[in-house]
Amino acid sequence: MSLLTDWSTASGEVLLHFSDSAMAVLQAHVQTGQRPEAGGILLGTVHDHGMFITHATAPSRLDRQFLTFFSRSPRGHRAVAQRLWRASGGTIRYLGDWHTHPEDVPSPSVIDLREWQRLAIARNDNRPAVSVIVGRHALHVELMHSSGKRDQLTAVV
Ligand SMILES: [Zn+2]
Repeated sequence: MSLLTDWSTASGEVLLHFSDSAMAVLQAHVQTGQRPEAGGILLGTVHDHGMFITHATAPSRLDRQFLTFFSRSPRGHRAVAQRLWRASGGTIRYLGDWHTHPEDVPSPSVIDLREWQRLAIARNDNRPAVSVIVGRHALHVELMHSSGKRDQLTAVV
């Protein structure tokens, strides 16, 4: 998987930047061979025209990992989110979720879309949920709004 750290919506209105350390976590879980599906949450800061993803949590031992299924226990990830939120004085917050697919170029399943919309609705700041799928050769990055509206992002090279 190539490490493309800058992404934008088609309109160019929203820019998303991944820190090197967040990208390294995603990279470390690319599903090659018989590696199980993995996932975690994305944390970062919000700016006028974009978001900076500073952290991606890795699967915790509370999560259950299978080849084509990943069951996330919210506990471990939520603890990291709360710790960073406090340590940053409230600037680093939960932005969304990531998980892997055993596909070269990943695309969301119906279940993924439903789950992302559920997460977007659950937010209390009306922001779309950043939704990332880590494939073998590419990332799928989109913003899911609570209305179900989707904005796919493309890498800015
Ligand atoms: Zn999926």
